[in-house]
Amino acid sequence: SQCLHYGQELFEGMKVQSGPDGRIFAFRPYDNARRLNRGAAYMCGPELPEELFVRGIEEVAAANHPYVPPHGSGAALYVRPFYIGIDDNVGVKPARSYVFRVFVTPVGPYFKGGFGPDQGKDFMVSRLDRAAPAGSGNVKAGGNYACSFTPGREARDSGFVEALYLDPREHRFIEEIGAANFLGFRDGSLITPDSTSILPSITRISLLEIAEKIFGWTTEERKIALEEL
Ligand SMILES: *Cc1c(COP(=O)(O)O)cnc(C)c1O
Repeated sequence: SQCLHYGQELFEGMKVQSGPDGRIFAFRPYDNARRLNRGAAYMCGPELPEELFVRGIEEVAAANHPYVPPHGSGAALYVRPFYIGIDDNVGVKPARSYVFRVFVTPVGPYFKGGFGPDQGKDFMVSRLDRAAPAGSGNVKAGGNYACSFTPGREARDSGFVEALYLDPREHRFIEEIGAANFLGFRDGSLITPDSTSILPSITRISLLEIAEKIFGWTTEERKIALEEL
């Protein structure tokens, strides 16, 4: 199939969490639907109706209600929608048939031991790139992630939590970290890299919005030289 041989695969990821009143919430699933469809266009596959995407999440989350961790536990039900091209031909071209599915699994915090300034999260600047400057780094396509195994392993083998990637053109500016975007804070301003090859994170967009609208901070999207860190 196109998925297995040519990597015609896209995935999404988001969390479903319990509210204080016991109701369960998905975090901005329509944003994930739109991001998946930007990837589908890039991979020459059909668009997935947003309503179908969100209905999939609702139905799978409802069917797994007992596995949604309790409010305040720090854990969540991770939702993994995926989209694959399946054909029984060997030609290098887009599939004619596609499968869209959703699975879920309870998860703890993304970084081992949680996330906080006191927890000594050291990242290793990677000598390798995760994406090309004008490539597919901005879509959540499976192949981008197999390529990140070696940089991730080099970082962990050297005692670091994850690889920090620099921009693939000049290796001067901060790009992103493993499978997480980078945000820096300086002089009342929340700063995030301007790059064509990072994955447009919904967490990042949300944090920038919260910073501006709720905290009244300024935000910047610009090149961040490694020495600035
Ligand atoms: C999924 C992903 C992110 C985070 O995206 P969110 O929408 O915030 O979950 C960041 N970087 C990479 C490379 C990713 O694959």
